[in-house]
Amino acid sequence: MSNKFIYSDDNKKYHSLFYYNKHRFGGRIYKAVLNGGFTCPNLDGSKGFQGCAFCDGGSGAFTKALPLQSQLSLELERIKKQNPDAKAIAYFQVHTNTYAPVEDLKNLFEQAINFPDIIGLSVGTRPDCLPDDVLNYLSDLNQRTYLTVELGIQTVHDKTAEAFGRGYSFSEFLESYQKLQNLHIRTCLHIINGLQGEDFEEMLETAQVLGALKPQAVKIQLLHILKDTRYAELYQSGKYLPMEQEDYIFTVVKQLEYFPPETVIERLTGDGEKAKLLAPLWSMSELSPA
Ligand code: SF4
Repeated sequence: MSNKFIYSDDNKKYHSLFYYNKHRFGGRIYKAVLNGGFTCPNLDGSKGFQGCAFCDGGSGAFTKALPLQSQLSLELERIKKQNPDAKAIAYFQVHTNTYAPVEDLKNLFEQAINFPDIIGLSVGTRPDCLPDDVLNYLSDLNQRTYLTVELGIQTVHDKTAEAFGRGYSFSEFLESYQKLQNLHIRTCLHIINGLQGEDFEEMLETAQVLGALKPQAVKIQLLHILKDTRYAELYQSGKYLPMEQEDYIFTVVKQLEYFPPETVIERLTGDGEKAKLLAPLWSMSELSPA
């Protein structure tokens, strides 16, 4: 009897993004990474000024803050060099992409979904930045485009989150997550392994608790120590040791068992900006799912 994983065309034992896009869209879908010029409650003083301890200003902050149409053109140009027929999802990645008046969100998101060869929208945000008017707009968008909301929860443990300065509780996350689910909005949860103070069991517990929520997608990331962050200080003073590659792989393999087969595993690790990466250097080799 075959023990082939149900959502796999090869030997993968998890529901990869490649498989999902192939079966939903007929082929590989690319991400056009965009900077909408947002900030974050942890950076603008609303909840803090320092940001999360691992944050170097928000992942994807490397994207040039050009007018949105120019960013979209440049990203599509970059993507089409790899594949002239490519379609892309507009990915608002930098900082908190619903942290603005809803009219500002409309201006940006409508431009993005109406741009040629953009087939959907992905919005990275925080659960404490989803007020009702924003949720209503996202619900409307969800009827008109392929929408994913990405929530950076990182861990289900509030004590860890307080230590790195996340700025919201797990119960706040649960409330917003449930609202997104009630609106049938595809939701991708981000986890970080290797946070200071967390052991193997706690990382597994994060996967177990989030897996029980049956999210549509998850991104599992390795904690990268980037220059000019509070984690860099901890690491350089010897107060923090990054995860070893074997430990990371073992942890991720065990975590995957907690997610239902339907949950799409969008990443098995993250990309730290190479020029800024202090550790772990083994992460330079690619482990991300196809
Ligand atoms: S929520 Fe995101 S953008 Fe804001 S400080 Fe934390 S990692 Fe940086």
